[in-house]
Amino acid sequence: NSEQIAKNFEEQIKIHGLDQEVIVERTGCFGLCALGPIVIIYPEASFYSMIKPEDVEEIVKEHLIKGRVVKRLLYAETVAESRIKSINEVNFYKNQQRVALRNCGIINPENIDEYIAFDGYKALIKCLTELKPEEVIESIKKSGLRGRGGGGFPTGNKWEFTAKAQGDMKYVCCNADEGDPGAFMDRSILEGDPHSVLEAMAIAGYAIGGSQGYIYVRAEYPLAVKRLTIAINQAREYGLLGKNILGTGFGFDIAIRLGAGAFVCGEETALIASIEGQRGMPRIRPPFPAVKGLFGKPTLLNNVETYANICSIINNGPEWFASMGTEKSKGTKVFALGGKINHTGLVEVPMGTTMREIIYNIGGGCPNGKAFKAVQMGGPSGGCIPAELIDTIIDYDSVTKTGAIMGSGGMIVMDEDNCMVDIAKFFLDFTVHESCGKCTFCRIGIKRMNEILTRITKGEGREGDIGLLEELAINIKKNSLCGLGQTAPNPVLTTIKYFRNEYEAHIRDKK
Ligand code: SF4
Repeated sequence: NSEQIAKNFEEQIKIHGLDQEVIVERTGCFGLCALGPIVIIYPEASFYSMIKPEDVEEIVKEHLIKGRVVKRLLYAETVAESRIKSINEVNFYKNQQRVALRNCGIINPENIDEYIAFDGYKALIKCLTELKPEEVIESIKKSGLRGRGGGGFPTGNKWEFTAKAQGDMKYVCCNADEGDPGAFMDRSILEGDPHSVLEAMAIAGYAIGGSQGYIYVRAEYPLAVKRLTIAINQAREYGLLGKNILGTGFGFDIAIRLGAGAFVCGEETALIASIEGQRGMPRIRPPFPAVKGLFGKPTLLNNVETYANICSIINNGPEWFASMGTEKSKGTKVFALGGKINHTGLVEVPMGTTMREIIYNIGGGCPNGKAFKAVQMGGPSGGCIPAELIDTIIDYDSVTKTGAIMGSGGMIVMDEDNCMVDIAKFFLDFTVHESCGKCTFCRIGIKRMNEILTRITKGEGREGDIGLLEELAINIKKNSLCGLGQTAPNPVLTTIKYFRNEYEAHIRDKK
């Protein structure tokens, strides 16, 4: 549909002889997915939503030729009583702060010149010409950036460990194996601004002394793969990747590796095994990848969103980045807002924003006036945060205190009609399927939990089932090798913690 709309614009613009004055650009996602396809007309930034190919002719004739906006096609919230509001004034955007998503929906991701026009590759040039590797690492440490893939480990420390590790070869990897149900943050960045990740990886290579990068990306993201491939080739053509970047003597190149869709390959040691051509199974740590990673060499591994913050930190300074967020969680975080929410989409807010602001001010609350019941944060590894904790602020520590985890940024909203036992079962179905089977507690324990949940939801629950679930959950968390098993029971534990009455009602009423 979107491609047809773009083609119709090109055709209509040609028919009306506007091709010297108007340019049609294809961009990545602008965040408000619920209203797509979206067309924005600059310079005034009129925001047309839910456009169909047949609407294009009217927009060209009315807006581009006669200078009159087509009100019926404008996003309703941009039409104030006496004027058209700028898109930045509407609720969905005005409470956001876009750092990782800064270029998404604005530039054409297949055109390196547009990225360069928006300060692209300025940070890499600054690092190569003005900063020593240790100064780059110091900047990242000072910024307070923590890994956005879920763990929240301080990024600068990770870079420092890898820089100090001994090795004749070092690698820089990007985890783009986004597998949580409901998460599409990394996909949007790769589709909307692939150069921001390439540039950051080259900076990381310079900082740690690495010359080869790998992006491990899901094969189910064909557009992301296509745009990454184009971006890598363009960067090579411009001398921004390759043996001798811009004649500075520093060499760094990037290759893409496709993941086959196993959730466990998002775990760092499994991801590394998969790039090596082995079965994607986690390994015992230590040794950590910083010391012994890809092909046995020191390896730096960050996720897409973490890299997407790097260039802004170098360009604007670590103090700028650290001025956003809370004491221990700096900067912003991207969330994929989905489920029972009016404004499904991608949002980026400063750490410290409350859940209420995201659900109501940005997300517009639940559809059809239904009451908000809970939000599942962090995908299958996360947990459910109930309505009574809606004023919880978003930062690593506050979210962990609720029993959920920040995770990579999936946020699935539930309303009053959702059964929380069903929700827990949905996520456990997923982890049972995705367990790699290496360790007993995860392979068998999650399956047993799922059997108990199945009988509860079928009205065949037994007295003692809740206690049994809790006991299994604690043992699985304690004895599993990797994050998948260690966190898989979280959706069950948090729903028991906050919605125990629903489990009891299923068992008592046999339905
Ligand atoms: Fe595999 Fe689960 Fe063990 Fe992780 S915890 S290694 S996914 S069996």
